[in-house]
Amino acid sequence: MSKFPGAGLAKGLAVTLRTMTKRSVTQGYPEVLPELPPRSRGVIALFEENCTVCMLCARECPDWCIYIDSHKEVVPAKEPGARDRTRNVLDRFAIDFALCMYCGICVEVCPFDALFWSPEFEYATEDIQQLTHEKDTLRAWMWTVPAPPALDERAEEPKELTMARRAADKLAKEQAQAASEASGASASEASEAPEDGTP
Ligand code: SF4
Ligand code: SF4
Repeated sequence: MSKFPGAGLAKGLAVTLRTMTKRSVTQGYPEVLPELPPRSRGVIALFEENCTVCMLCARECPDWCIYIDSHKEVVPAKEPGARDRTRNVLDRFAIDFALCMYCGICVEVCPFDALFWSPEFEYATEDIQQLTHEKDTLRAWMWTVPAPPALDERAEEPKELTMARRAADKLAKEQAQAASEASGASASEASEAPEDGTP
């Protein structure tokens, strides 16, 4: 207990005077948006095109808050005698962010790079049921995922880039070959045509 009456008040005023001259550390959200680190865990985005419906994320999620529905589709064989194949088609992919604890296990375990952290955080709602977000919203959040950091300049080229470049080179070669064959065929047809113009 203080010895002098009003000592507590004086102490409080001293703290007020000391802090009122310091720079404010609070921000006037929503007028001023916070500058978050690019790798902030705001929300989980889905790159739907990469998802093979392997169900690994849903099985590993400790909260069981990932809901996936799919059906099988037959892909006809490309060559005669080969077998038709089946593939999974994603019908529903939803995450209940009211249950999610942002542990990141689903992002870590996805073997096909279909889940990413996005720093997007403005999806608060007054209705808890609206915190279950479907694949269209999760896909749209992919636009807010920051680009991966640049590789070290002496690092090897990622194998995905090498394979994509080889495939593009092969396609360009095939197209050039087809174009030269087509122009050669039209030139020979023109040379075989009679000079008087009779058919
Ligand atoms: S971050 Fe964790 S809790 Fe949330 S959906 Fe992924 S695995 Fe489940
Ligand atoms: S682990 Fe990845 S590929 Fe498998 S269902 Fe989940 S998001 Fe799709």
